[in-house]
Amino acid sequence: MKITTVDIVQVESPDPGDYGIPWNPTVIRINTDEGLYGVGEIGLPMGHARHGQVGLARDYASLLIGMDPSQITAIWEKLYRRTFWALGGGMLTFGVISAIDIALWDLKGKALGVPVYQLLGGKTNNQLRAYASQIQFGWGPEMGNLVHPDEYADIAKVAVAEGFDCLKVNPIGFDSEGRWMTWNAHGFLTNKQLTLTVERIASIRSAVGEDVDIIVELHAHTDANTAVQLGRELEEFRILYYEEATGPLNWKAMRKIAKKVNIPIATGERLFTRFGFRPYIENQIVDIVQPDLGSCGGFTETRKVCEMASTYDIGVQLHLIGSPLSTAAALQMEAVLPNFVIHEHNNTSLLPENIALCTYDYQPVDGKFSVPELPGIGQDLTEEAYRRADIVTVS
Ligand code: MG
Repeated sequence: MKITTVDIVQVESPDPGDYGIPWNPTVIRINTDEGLYGVGEIGLPMGHARHGQVGLARDYASLLIGMDPSQITAIWEKLYRRTFWALGGGMLTFGVISAIDIALWDLKGKALGVPVYQLLGGKTNNQLRAYASQIQFGWGPEMGNLVHPDEYADIAKVAVAEGFDCLKVNPIGFDSEGRWMTWNAHGFLTNKQLTLTVERIASIRSAVGEDVDIIVELHAHTDANTAVQLGRELEEFRILYYEEATGPLNWKAMRKIAKKVNIPIATGERLFTRFGFRPYIENQIVDIVQPDLGSCGGFTETRKVCEMASTYDIGVQLHLIGSPLSTAAALQMEAVLPNFVIHEHNNTSLLPENIALCTYDYQPVDGKFSVPELPGIGQDLTEEAYRRADIVTVS
């Protein structure tokens, strides 16, 4: 089998008014001389970054033409070593490499008639516990901006009523006026900021009781000082873990937070490859790694990161925000990981316009996912999504 063409599929995004920022999934489709093809999504579909990714994808795709798609590791190494960009890392470059890698595994699964999890060693998990993620934007087919602590309690109860026993919330993302990421969260937090932020978590805890886990997400909006200020006040609420408490390029600042706050630490959605995760794992700064399959390096590289983490009893929660194509790929990876902790079910996965992009709608039942049994990743864009997409073909 030979790779003949590669399509860079820029899916038409739903109305960006619903999100505040444009939602732009981009998918790489690898076509072969035998008519089979594989698909993979570039991680992080927000904003206009895809215009940068498409240029990179054209360059990378040109290296694939004529190659045997079954040689996945050789292709990964070629993309990593034979281009200027990859050795320097970065979200755009590894987004493209990841999507190509996912598409190759999808293709191999289809060629052999098995789901990707079988190629990765088989299941260690049949049912994947999931959490309702980013509930500060609401939970349901429409998104919103939550401000008052009572609104956080109400939305938490909605998710729990659907069967979720774990929630994730950013309690400091919206200021007291409902503006996203406008609060200064560097230096030191004001008492007003601290009070409102802690009240939002207290309100959720009191609404859902002790049996529901709460993950606190900070989107690297805080720095070491403010994350410590806030974290110490949140310790009493038995938080499951504390995510992106500061920027991931500064592992020593994260180590400071880990030493001073008695809540497990998680990060990884802005780290790429083994080399990006290395300081966090080797120095045992994190308790949970959060690689994104669509930007860490695809199945090939993310598997290695998860295994590195397992040598220190560090758990895995794949970061996940994308079209249902990314969800399907993540389920295949999570199924095989002995150190899998929980699946991220983002509120964008509930949006009808996002669900409509793909052939299958995988949703959790009672807060748990089953693993798709179709060949490959078990997902594709619909014919309508392909028809409406802006497609660049490299041959
Ligand atoms: Mg996050």
